[in-house]
Amino acid sequence: MSKKTDPQAGANTRLAHAGNDPHAFFGFVNPPVVHASTVLFPDAETMASRKQKYTYGTRGTPTTDALADAMNELEGAAGTVVVPSGLAAVTVPLLGFLSSGDHVLIVDSVYHPTRHFADTMLTRLGVEVTYYDPLVGPGIAALLQPNTKVVFTEAPGSGTFEMQDIPTIVAAAHGRDAVVMMDNTWATPLFYRPLDHGVDISIQAATKYPAGHSDILLGTVSANDACWERLLAAHGALGMCAAPDDVYQVLRGLRTMGVRLERHQQSALALARWLEGQPGVARVLHPGLESHPGHAIWKRDFSGASGLFSIVLAGGGEKQAHAFLNALDIFGLGYSWGGYESLAVHVQLTDRKVAFAPQEGPVIRLQIGLEDVEDLQADLARGLTAAAGA
Ligand SMILES: *Cc1c(COP(=O)(O)O)cnc(C)c1O
Repeated sequence: MSKKTDPQAGANTRLAHAGNDPHAFFGFVNPPVVHASTVLFPDAETMASRKQKYTYGTRGTPTTDALADAMNELEGAAGTVVVPSGLAAVTVPLLGFLSSGDHVLIVDSVYHPTRHFADTMLTRLGVEVTYYDPLVGPGIAALLQPNTKVVFTEAPGSGTFEMQDIPTIVAAAHGRDAVVMMDNTWATPLFYRPLDHGVDISIQAATKYPAGHSDILLGTVSANDACWERLLAAHGALGMCAAPDDVYQVLRGLRTMGVRLERHQQSALALARWLEGQPGVARVLHPGLESHPGHAIWKRDFSGASGLFSIVLAGGGEKQAHAFLNALDIFGLGYSWGGYESLAVHVQLTDRKVAFAPQEGPVIRLQIGLEDVEDLQADLARGLTAAAGA
């Protein structure tokens, strides 16, 4: 167990030390990367009782514990499991808390692979799935059924960035004994701590900002006291352990996540504001902008914004979207985000059932990287010119 940093300390101070316990490892600042399946026991009795800290590689190592401890500190959680991808960080808790005959409410603006998992696996396992409008607010109460066991939230919404009123949803769900999960990948625990707002289980695609360099896939799931035991049991039953080198790289990434996020935030807001004034842009979907319908909720609940937002082009369709993307020089065309480099993607919204999809034109999602903002602005201007001419 690492020494806990003062919870009153600043975010960067906590990030610099969370999860580290140098004196447990001969004073070396960073924990060792433990490659392990087998763990030896000193005698048959200890082996039979399994009464030692580590028993087998799938059940945790000093390396995974260092990251879990760091995440517990950042999330204010009772426990954290580390899993091989962000998508696994979504599927493990859902499998752990849902059974055949149960009902789950999932926000309609959810990360698409989460929807795919629900519509295929969960449905096949006999779980009833309902999608709800991200702007539902207190209306969530009417959607809760006697068999609703989980409300799955994500804010802001993937691609379209709707804000959800999490405390209101939590109050309604807890009134009916449903567990609330939140995919908090966009904000990271630096800008929003779901458990402080009553959420039971906080999900992070550590692939994004914690890793930060577009070279690692990893997920973390952090639970409050009430849900920790069941989450840990699901993690153990599924054998969803993560590789030690990847875990170490995420721990390394955490140390600089605060300073990276400051830059992502600043550049993204500057570009979002500039884009709002461009004639080729109908709307900018960034909750940190005063013009965003979810701005008040964002301001009330979040302490910052990361570097991912969308723009709605003023008119046009796929042809204009492709012209925009093809004209970009610095922005890469790729999925994922949270790395050091800027990315753009044409957002597909045909899966939406109840959430609003912008009608003015195609939606382009931008991940603002750590490049110089003037260069990124010039690149986006090239894209807008190309879209206008397409
Ligand atoms: C990327 C992402 C995930 C999944 O992470 P992977 O590591 O790529 O599987 C989950 N949720 C959100 C919101 C994401 O953006």
